[in-house]
Amino acid sequence: MRRWLPALLALGLAGCAAKPAVEFVPPPRAYAHGIGGATFLIGGSFAPGRSPDGNSLILYGPEGAFLIDSGRHAEHLALIRQGFSGIGMTPVAIVNTHWHLDHVSGNPALKAEFPGIKIYGTSAIDGALSGFLAKSAESSRKALADGAVPASAVPDVEGDLATIARGAELRPDIVVDESRDMTIAGRPLSLRVARNAATERDLWIYDAAEKRAIVGDLVTVPVPFLDTACPEGWLKALDEVTASGAEQVVPGHGPIMPIADFGTWHRAFSDFVACARGTGALEGCSAGWLAGAAKWIGPDTARAKAMADYYGELIRSKKLDGYCRA
Ligand SMILES: [Zn+2]
Repeated sequence: MRRWLPALLALGLAGCAAKPAVEFVPPPRAYAHGIGGATFLIGGSFAPGRSPDGNSLILYGPEGAFLIDSGRHAEHLALIRQGFSGIGMTPVAIVNTHWHLDHVSGNPALKAEFPGIKIYGTSAIDGALSGFLAKSAESSRKALADGAVPASAVPDVEGDLATIARGAELRPDIVVDESRDMTIAGRPLSLRVARNAATERDLWIYDAAEKRAIVGDLVTVPVPFLDTACPEGWLKALDEVTASGAEQVVPGHGPIMPIADFGTWHRAFSDFVACARGTGALEGCSAGWLAGAAKWIGPDTARAKAMADYYGELIRSKKLDGYCRA
């Protein structure tokens, strides 16, 4: 288990390392839950032993509807489809906040179904396809061949391998590598690019009309998903979200946060990074995170603690520092 864990973490399976103390049955997800401002949220799942789906959003404007992030699993994709049919519209675009597989895996299927779709995203996926994802696929194939993947995780690992094999179809049609205001489906939005944050380049969206920041994995629960992150760059990006004027933040994983809650999360993350960069026991850093972010931990504290321990060690060991130099 220990040997193949990094490969699975790379694919967003961090949670499978810890057996949940309590078997948590997530509540059923209402598809395309309206959050105001012609915007609907499809909450991502993170079931025990499974890899996560990021949150997706459907927005529409005078010229059509579009999607922000396309999830990982077929079940999530089905909710996206229901969301579009629920509002009686078809997607004309997908905006990807970043290249992690829990946010882009639905791209190829949606492009095939709706050939007019244009994908907006940063070029960071190019480096990921030839580097991080290629290496992850290699480790995963080896782990599968060695029988080192728990049976419950095999479908997710195989699904991610199939997605990586279609990597070219995940790439953006419209590359957004610098922050800019633009109109998608006739709807004005500000696309902001954060360098060396959760990935080499993260896209987040400021919807000024709603005072809403849609930030992808710049905010995640139950822990910050640091697999490909530069912690200090990520903190800088959070300062930019704070300065944007947003009154509400939609995270990449977890519930919508009023700006005061975002401030609480931000402080907990900042304290966690400072602690892990220090010399005290890492256990204390995890405990600090669990206390500071208590309202987002949920019933499975064992999984959250195991993940915080893992990410604390990633920071402490300086293994993430390479992501600060890109
Ligand atoms: Zn994610």
